[in-house]
Amino acid sequence: MSDISIRITGRAGRITLQRPNALNAMTYEMCLAIEAAIDQWRNDPAVAVVVLDAQGDRAFCSGGDIADLYATGLKGDYAYGQKFWADEYRLNAKIFEYPKPVVSFLQGYTMGGGVGIGCHGSHRVVGDTSQIAMPEVGIGLVPDVGGSLMLALAPDRLGEYLGTTASRMNASDAIFAGFADLYIPEGKWPALIEQLEVSGDPACLVGEAPAEIGPIQSQMDAINTHFYGVSLSDVLTTLQDDDSEFAQQTLKQLRRNSPLSMACTIEMLHRMRGKNLTMAKALDLEYRFTSRSMEHGDFIEGIRAAIIDKDRSPRWQFADGSVPPAALSKMLQPLGKNALDLQLDTSKGNGMNIGFIGLGNMGAPMAANLAAAGHNVTGFDPAGTTAAGVAVAPTGLDAVKDANVVITMLPNGAILRSVAAELIPAMKAGATLLDCSTVDVDSARAVAQDAGNAGLLFVDAPVSGGTGGASGGTLTFMAGGSVAGFIAVSPLFEVMGQKAVHCGDAGSGQAAKICNNMILGATMIATCEAFALADKLGLDRQKMFDVVSTSSGYSWSMNGYCPAPGIGPTSPADNDYTPGFAAELMLKDLGLSQQAAEAADADTPMGALALALYKQFVEDEGGLGKDFSAMLPRFEKRGRD
Ligand code: NAD
Repeated sequence: MSDISIRITGRAGRITLQRPNALNAMTYEMCLAIEAAIDQWRNDPAVAVVVLDAQGDRAFCSGGDIADLYATGLKGDYAYGQKFWADEYRLNAKIFEYPKPVVSFLQGYTMGGGVGIGCHGSHRVVGDTSQIAMPEVGIGLVPDVGGSLMLALAPDRLGEYLGTTASRMNASDAIFAGFADLYIPEGKWPALIEQLEVSGDPACLVGEAPAEIGPIQSQMDAINTHFYGVSLSDVLTTLQDDDSEFAQQTLKQLRRNSPLSMACTIEMLHRMRGKNLTMAKALDLEYRFTSRSMEHGDFIEGIRAAIIDKDRSPRWQFADGSVPPAALSKMLQPLGKNALDLQLDTSKGNGMNIGFIGLGNMGAPMAANLAAAGHNVTGFDPAGTTAAGVAVAPTGLDAVKDANVVITMLPNGAILRSVAAELIPAMKAGATLLDCSTVDVDSARAVAQDAGNAGLLFVDAPVSGGTGGASGGTLTFMAGGSVAGFIAVSPLFEVMGQKAVHCGDAGSGQAAKICNNMILGATMIATCEAFALADKLGLDRQKMFDVVSTSSGYSWSMNGYCPAPGIGPTSPADNDYTPGFAAELMLKDLGLSQQAAEAADADTPMGALALALYKQFVEDEGGLGKDFSAMLPRFEKRGRD
């Protein structure tokens, strides 16, 4: 007998898992077979509904079959696992976005990979034997297969609790947590499946009230109290300070699981919550962890202890539960060109007409990413620059006249104001002007006003992430403007970036950006002067990096963009300080922050000093045209006077 039965019965596309002796654990082949079936049925008029069920009464699906992952990972072959997860996540996303009803009947265990196929459909049916859980942290992974999306959307801090303790939900709790929709006694399921096959209409599914509220739901007060903190350490501390049975039992559960996985789970859920959450975002973040889990996480050790040697004594990293922030960043930072590519038609955008003004170091790769995602992009730059897949217009007016969205990526506020004055009258009514340049708050607000008067939406959304982020589609956008404008351009943020935060009214994005860059300028200077001091103290630079990057002096300047050549990740320092982010652009941003601080009567002595140092560096010390991290060679040459 095959592990899976796929067929059309009446009006239903039918998928039955048939590995009851292995608790219907999903193999790679089963995953690919389900995907092929639902792809075929998507536009097949004969199929009105997809019905998923499984043989045996112990499990719908207890998870993914991980033996092959372990065997390949142990040999140092991480590519197999990465491909497996990418293919599995694509299936999860397809079920989640499926245009026809998907009904699943979830008896017994539905865990991990089982959640990925059973809990993303439109009608998720549970009964008295149902037990649903995301137990990945027990084997050194994080809740994945899109489960993190449901955890992030679960009430209050329930997601943190379920994701870190791996607690099992009964039918009532699963409905409360958003993993299931309908409680129907299991004796009625066979007749309902027959009805679905005949009618193709899930209206026959009528949920009943579970006998009582679930044990997890009844502990929500305690869960919220203990899982409110920002990190795993916070959670552990409050639990350790509490003698209650709940606290002690929860601690016992947490002690079984990988601290790195639990800490990353909490961090992921905190990052995901907010308006911008989509299944694609959740899967992208999950994949950042899982694709690194064999090489850098606890996954191999977790499987060894749980499944291979069965000694149940995993030797986790950070076993005392204090996971440093640098370890979290290492697991969750963007994957760049290796990022998850779901290859869904729906992720190819909806073919917006976009006018792109300013195809420089940042604008060109951003425009190219939009074109690659299926949008119609017409660009203009007086310097004659172009971008892959982008049609070039002879003038700015030609580039914007048919656009739903016009994006500007320009050097400064004065240029933005003059470009906006020329282009706004030519834009279609109801279109959105999205400015991604870094400019002063007043210019952003003035352009917002003009756009509003012309019946346009305006969003100021400066970026962080540099040219690498622009090429890799991993920028962070800090957006100001109306909610309507923000929603209109959100699909574009998803193509060009990894995160977009709506900061408030027009100008708020620029406010966030200049505050961020004031911190960046000051930390880069502090990092460079500390390296120069370390040199003079005879401290090896690599040792300095090893210590600081995992101690309280860590920062993006040190960990992500190290100013010392040959140390840390590849950065402009390794390319003779050829700019990724030019010192003169940092000088501009520090000028903007001081201008804003002046206007707002804010005391910013560090920002003022950073401005003075970059001014001296750019104007008098050869810093013009160099990366802003070239402060290090500047300090190297200097003494105390
Ligand atoms: P850039 O100088 O490479 O690009 C700006 C482009 O605007 C140029 O190609 C220029 O020809 C074009 N331009 C100038 N006047 C124009 C006009 N009137 N009409 C149309 N186009 C015009 O600069 P960049 O590095 O791409 O930076 C763009 C913006 O992004 C700046 O505001 C910068 O502060 C910000 N930024 C840059 C980085 C980075 O790492 N480079 C990071 C974050 C934010």
